[in-house]
Formats: sequence, structure tokens, C-alpha cells
Amino acid sequence: MNYQEIINTQKAFFNTNTTKDISFRVKELKRLKSVLQKSEELLYQAIYQDFKKSKYETYTTELAIIYHEIDLALVSIKKWSKRKSVSTGLANLPGRSYIIPEPFGTVLVMGAWNYPYQLSIVPAIAAIAAGCTVILKPSEIPSNSSSVMAKIIGENFDSKFFKVIEGGVKETTELLKIKFDKIFFTGSIQVGKIVYQAAAKHLTPVTLELGGKSPAIITKDVNIDMTAKRLVWAKFLNTGQTCIAPDYIMVASSVQDQLLLAIKKHIESADYKIENQNYTQIVNQKNFERLQNFIEEDKVYFGGHCDAETRVISPTVMSGVTFSDKVMQEEIFGPILPVISFDDLDNAIADIKTLSKPLSCYIFTKNKAVKNKILNEISFGGGAVNDAVMHFMEQNLPFGGVGDSGMGNYHGKAGFETFSHYKSILQKSFLIELNLKYSPYTSSKLKWLKRLIG
Ligand code: NAD
Repeated sequence: MNYQEIINTQKAFFNTNTTKDISFRVKELKRLKSVLQKSEELLYQAIYQDFKKSKYETYTTELAIIYHEIDLALVSIKKWSKRKSVSTGLANLPGRSYIIPEPFGTVLVMGAWNYPYQLSIVPAIAAIAAGCTVILKPSEIPSNSSSVMAKIIGENFDSKFFKVIEGGVKETTELLKIKFDKIFFTGSIQVGKIVYQAAAKHLTPVTLELGGKSPAIITKDVNIDMTAKRLVWAKFLNTGQTCIAPDYIMVASSVQDQLLLAIKKHIESADYKIENQNYTQIVNQKNFERLQNFIEEDKVYFGGHCDAETRVISPTVMSGVTFSDKVMQEEIFGPILPVISFDDLDNAIADIKTLSKPLSCYIFTKNKAVKNKILNEISFGGGAVNDAVMHFMEQNLPFGGVGDSGMGNYHGKAGFETFSHYKSILQKSFLIELNLKYSPYTSSKLKWLKRLIG
């Protein structure tokens, strides 16, 4: 079957209204959880082959997030799918007004490579919960993770409801020619633009989960040790290959030395090594070389070791960095942490705002006025105060970017809403009918209308 035929079968299945039944969605979500749980060993092996990701990290940063999302959908789906009554204006009485969530239809979910399971499956969960049929196109870069998803989904789901289509640029370009009812894309800004243009040809709505340079701003009044510990974890998790990792640090110059020392201490105590299963490879040679090119020896404060054979770059901290350095020209997406000091917060904010609106921003401060100033003045997707990355785990916080870091959001209820159209309905009664809106338009009718409407 070619792609168009596959999508036609999904559209035909959607039109049977089977997915509108909440019990069908519940059954399929339970099936998904159960098949993933049964396949955990295969999932661990595949991702390890792709970038030596350990079981621990695969569970905590991929599978646990997926299971949590399914569980939340299962307990909330009835509430989320309920029609919501709203008040009705005088002109339409007697009558009532309500909003019905309806699934968009047949949707395309495209995943990125860095968290190949959760970035593909979490949006698919939201789509299933909302009542859509799903074509999932994982990133081709972690090829083992992509094919294990294709195998598991292929063996356990009817392709007219949920199907994985594997492939790279050629295949995706073909897929994007087809009219979907919604496209959910996670990936780079550059490809986000391609997806948006392809979707525009069909007026297909999109959610774009993109990237950017997420700053961490550290003021002088913080707990330095805990700040460093949280930053080190957030930055070097998955070897910095995390869209919401703190890309660079802006630190008050009076505490810069203390912070650097504390960061070094926490990197050393984390003992990041592949053989310890607490570090990961760079996903491919292209990214390895791109990252290596950012490291300027005279600015390396700590680390900086690159091994091309194993594609390992040790946790690297660069100090004395400026906004004109190479490492500040694009999203790093790897284990290199540039540190920039500032004396004046207004100047620091102005510098951050010379870059595109980031996906995340992290504010480390005990000063309420400073926190509120930064929250008020910098536009970004979402973030945390006195922590980094952990906001991603909060299911009640919609996750997404703004400006170049994306549009739309998901996680929990926000994911359900992303795959739903909200149909507004006014329902009238046959009890009475006022003649005011009908011609002839007399002056006394106008007088009455003005009295009623104001
Ligand atoms: P990418 O844009 O290269 O790939 C994403 C998807 O697009 C893949 O499925 C890929 O096959 C497809 N693709 C690649 N080139 C294409 C083309 N020319 N035409 C059509 N499709 C194409 O992104 P990536 O390298 O997988 O991921 C890294 C980027 O994703 C980073 O910028 C990162 O910040 C961002 N990201 C964002 C989030 C988020 O939630 N906002 C999460 C993870 C990654």
C-alpha cells in the first residue's frame, strides 16, 4: 500500500466513528501500555544500540513519562471528553450553549531522535485519547529505536487506527504531501518550517515543538551548591541532547567563580562515563563534529575531551564566553556548557533577547523582584525557578514553545486539547420565538433591541 492508501484506510476507519467511543480509546490506551511493558527489554536494547543509553535513563526519561501520560489519560478521558455547558445570552433564550470536543481525525505525529520513544509516543497517546487515528513517523536517526517501535505497534495495533511509518527525508517529504487533519512535529526550527509550509498547502493545523538556546540565569543570592547540582544534572542528562537542557549560563559576576567550582565538583561526583551506564554517546558523527567545533581550547574551564571513535565528548564547561563566540551562534544540543558573566541584569536580559525566544528559561534566585522581572521581560516557552528541566515532568503544565521555539503545546489535558476541535453549539427550544430579528425592521423593534442589547 502506498502512503495515500494507508491514510485513506485510516480516514475510512475514522469515519466509522469507532474512535469516538470513549471505551474504544480506553481499550487502545491500555493495550499500548501493556505492549510497551511487555516489550521493555526490546526497547532497552534498541536504544542502547543507538546511543548507549542506559536502562535507568531509558526508564526515567522515556518509559516512565509514557506510562504516566497513559495513566493520566485513562483517569481523565471521560472528564476531558465531556461537553461543557456555558451561559447563553438573552437573545437566544430559551436555549442553551455548550462546547463539544471532537477529534481532528487522521493525524501525523513526527518525532525527534533525542528521546526517540517519548517524543513520538506521548503525542500519539494524546491523539488516541482525543479519538484520532495516528500515523507515527519516528526519527530515522536512532534506527534501532525507530524499527522497534514500528515492530511493536505493527504487531499489536490495526494499521487503520495506529501505524508507524519509518523513513528519512525522502519518505517524510512524500508523507507531507498528503492531507492530514493535524500534524504534530517535534524537531529542529529548520525542518519545522518545511512542515509548516507543507501543512499550509492543505490548511492543516500544526503543533510545532522546536528548539533554541535556553538560558539559565543565576543571580548572586542563590544556594550555589544546589544550583550547580541541579544545573549539572539538567545539562548532562542524555549528554546534553535534550531540547530543554540549559543551553548556556548567565551568572552574576560576583558568584561566577563559586558557581564554576561547584559545577566542576558535581560533574566529578556524577562520574559521567559510558562504562558506568550514566553517560550517553553523541548520536552520530555529524553531531559529534558539530559539537567538537564549538570547543575553543582557551575557553575550556573543565572537560573538553573528545573521542571520535566512541563518539564521546566529556562534560565540558567553557568560561569567559561572549555572545559572539561560535558556541553561542546555534543551539548546542550536547554536553558543552558555556558560562557568561554579567554585572547588570538589564544588560543580561537585553543580551538574551537578542536571540530567538527560547523553549525554556531557568531562573535561579531567592529575590522575588528579580524573579518577577525576568518572568515579565523575557518571552519563552516554559521553565522553572530554582530548577531546570523538571517542569517537563509536570503534567498539569502545558509544554511547548513560543516564536522560533514552536507553537501549541501538549502533555496531559493540553495534549488532548491539541488533538481536539472544540465545536460550539447553541441549542434552541421551540417554546417561543421573538419577532425582533425578523423584517419588517420597524423603529419600535429597533427601540426594543437597543433596550435588550444595550
Ligand atoms: P530534525 O528536525 O532534524 O528531525 C525531526 C523530524 O523531521 C524527524 O522525524 C526527521 O526524519 C524529519 N526530517 C528531517 N529532515 C527533514 C526534511 N528535510 N523534510 C521533512 N522531514 C524531515 O530534528 P532532530 O535533529 O531530530 O531533533 C533536534 C531538534 O529538535 C533540536 O532543535 C531540538 O531542540 C528539537 N527538539 C525539540 C523538542 C521539543 O519538545 N520542543 C524535543 C526534542 C527535540
